[in-house]
Amino acid sequence: MATPEKNIVVLGGSYGGISAAHSILKHTFPHLPNKETYQVVMISAASQAMCRPGCPRALISDDLLDQSRFFVDIQPQFEQFPKDSFRFVQGTAVELDHESRTVTYRPAAGQPETISFYALVIATGSSTPSPMFSFNQDETSLRASWSAFRQALPTTRSIVVAGGGPTAVEVAGELGEFLNGRAGYFSAKLENPKVSITLVTSSTKILPVLRPALAAKAEALLAKLGVTVLKNTRVASVAPEGSGSEADVLATPTTVTLDSGETLEADIYIPAFGITYNTGFIREKDRSSSLTPEGRIHTCSATLRVEKAGPRVYAVGDVASAARPAVHNILAEIPVLSANLKRDLLTDAGVTGAAVAGEDRVFKEDTKETQLVPIGQSKGVGAGGGLRYLVL
Ligand SMILES: Cc1cc2nc3c(=O)[nH]c(=O)nc-3n(C[C@H](O)[C@H](O)[C@H](O)COP(=O)(O)OP(=O)(O)OC[C@H]3O[C@@H](n4cnc5c(N)ncnc54)[C@H](O)[C@@H]3O)c2cc1C
Repeated sequence: MATPEKNIVVLGGSYGGISAAHSILKHTFPHLPNKETYQVVMISAASQAMCRPGCPRALISDDLLDQSRFFVDIQPQFEQFPKDSFRFVQGTAVELDHESRTVTYRPAAGQPETISFYALVIATGSSTPSPMFSFNQDETSLRASWSAFRQALPTTRSIVVAGGGPTAVEVAGELGEFLNGRAGYFSAKLENPKVSITLVTSSTKILPVLRPALAAKAEALLAKLGVTVLKNTRVASVAPEGSGSEADVLATPTTVTLDSGETLEADIYIPAFGITYNTGFIREKDRSSSLTPEGRIHTCSATLRVEKAGPRVYAVGDVASAARPAVHNILAEIPVLSANLKRDLLTDAGVTGAAVAGEDRVFKEDTKETQLVPIGQSKGVGAGGGLRYLVL
């Protein structure tokens, strides 16, 4: 039996990477001539995948979400495929060399290693300023950040959350309900909450993706949980520096200075705005040509190929410039990636005829208003496909 020599390397093991690898193994491999010469090699910093949208609730207590379903080991998800068709490596990609078509990665243990790729799928996603919402490193460091936060909660009397998007609104709402409970049916706001929670946003309204009426409803729901919203207000600085982001000052008393010069004193500060795209493996000399101004991989938004990186290189998910960072966009990207990669592999293998005839499959982002934002454990606002308008 031949040994695999054509590595289809997938960087990242979350929504994008796992779906891509699964789709390639299921829909492309059966059609490849000499399929035993190909292998999908997934390299991911974490050995688990997790339900990232659930982080604002999960970080508070293990009792709020079923942990066995929140964190899932990656390797067993691929045991259904022939043994040599898939290999998982826990490691962090540190350099992508387009010319030699290699990726150098730092394994979880040991010295850096280099692997050559025949095809490459980049799905390394994004990181958040607070380590509590992402695998900024791996599952161990995520859990360590939650643990530090939980230790500080019992003595916390004031929390400042910076940001007006869904992550900020969700975490403020979850903390409000957990720490303060909910105001009665006839009260517009929770008077004298046990913990004062302040949400600071530089925008004129929270939840910029949603229509103003939904944002107003969200603000009203937050008020019932003891959350005050400051709009048109920007956090200028925090002391100590790195508060809420760095491990040693993750949940520590913080002076939050606003752009007005006013200061807020918080027992805990949570930066819940903005994301950074995980592209540290793009060499300095390639960064200006490979990355968009916002730091994402330049990806053809129709075919999901990374055209400047040579043949059979693709990107999906948050790190790809093809669509806004959201799970529903990734789910729509995967069939397109899979179809175009299949054509490229079959063509390169010399296959002719119907299997490679026709046009590329084309991705088109659905840009309609779509977002679901839980506010506390049983309420929320959202819109789907721009048509449905719901307030729970
Ligand atoms: C708090 C929060 C709530 C959200 N809620 C929603 C929601 O309700 N609905 C929605 O549609 N979207 C939501 N999102 C966005 C959604 O989570 C992302 O769009 C999605 O996680 C992106 O998936 P991904 O596979 O592209 O990357 P990520 O989920 O960011 O995962 C990247 C993976 O790559 C690995 N990695 C990173 N760097 C490297 C490297 N150099 N080498 C190897 N591996 C690496 C990481 O360990 C990780 O496994 C939310 C995001 C956050 C932060």
